[in-house]
Amino acid sequence: MIAAVREADDSGTPLLVIGGGSNLVIGDKGFDGTALVVATKGFALDGTRLELAAGEVWTDAVARTVEAGLAGVECLAGIPGSAGATPIQNVGAYGQEVSSTITEVVAYDRRAGETVTLGNEDCAFSYRHSRFKADPERYVVLRVRFRLEDAGGLSGPVKYAETARVLGVAPGERVPLATARETVLKLRSGKGMVLDPEDHDTWSAGSFFTNPVLDDEAFAAFRARVRERLGDGVEPPRTPRARATPRPPPPG
Ligand SMILES: Cc1cc2nc3c(=O)[nH]c(=O)nc-3n(C[C@H](O)[C@H](O)[C@H](O)COP(=O)(O)OP(=O)(O)OC[C@H]3O[C@@H](n4cnc5c(N)ncnc54)[C@H](O)[C@@H]3O)c2cc1C
Repeated sequence: MIAAVREADDSGTPLLVIGGGSNLVIGDKGFDGTALVVATKGFALDGTRLELAAGEVWTDAVARTVEAGLAGVECLAGIPGSAGATPIQNVGAYGQEVSSTITEVVAYDRRAGETVTLGNEDCAFSYRHSRFKADPERYVVLRVRFRLEDAGGLSGPVKYAETARVLGVAPGERVPLATARETVLKLRSGKGMVLDPEDHDTWSAGSFFTNPVLDDEAFAAFRARVRERLGDGVEPPRTPRARATPRPPPPG
């Protein structure tokens, strides 16, 4: 794979790196350059440490971590695409983000012409953003390393209000890992968000959805408006900030 990247770079040929292609829309004119589809395989589990080759199918890898009894990515089930793409936009859903479990990303640095290992802090993760997204021509992700949690077969704390409601638990409680994964898949399926080759409504050319990010003051003002219009008992759903610092979603 690195050889193909080098060849394109040395000859000044534009390079398009493709994982699963689930977050890409290609124009009708096609791409004038080299399209590199990352299809490397590798799932290595050592205790709670997981290393995935970039080409692993993400949702399958999630299923295997759940089968192995490890928590940390179970709520990211059903997200289409490859493992190598997950750090690019700090993939997240239903209260989990990969930035909470990624320890290192091994990438080919096209500028330096060498393979580098970036620690979590170096990845500059924030809400649906990272160093890789900020500098898209520079890195090709080769492998991603995670540190998962052995919580005795239980999930990570359930953080997302909708998931907690459906599971019938209070936010912060844990549930059996498989239950957490299945619940998320069910919720996603209900929104047409899990690919079913038989169901056209689930076919998708991509997703540009991001949640609004509000600071405490803006959220308090929003909450007051919601209560004013809908009644004092109504609480707008809220997901507290993850460890990484959120940045405002892109326009559009
Ligand atoms: C129905 C649907 C639901 C979705 N739900 C969610 C969701 O809940 N949460 C969420 O965060 N996202 C979601 N997404 C977006 C998408 O699943 C993620 O962005 C995913 O990480 C894309 O993976 P991919 O391998 O298909 O990437 P691609 O579409 O192939 O590529 C996406 C970008 O990453 C780059 N890239 C891919 N692989 C590499 C690599 N190895 N090295 C360097 N750059 C690379 C590409 O060049 C491109 O810029 C959803 C998409 C769809 C279609």
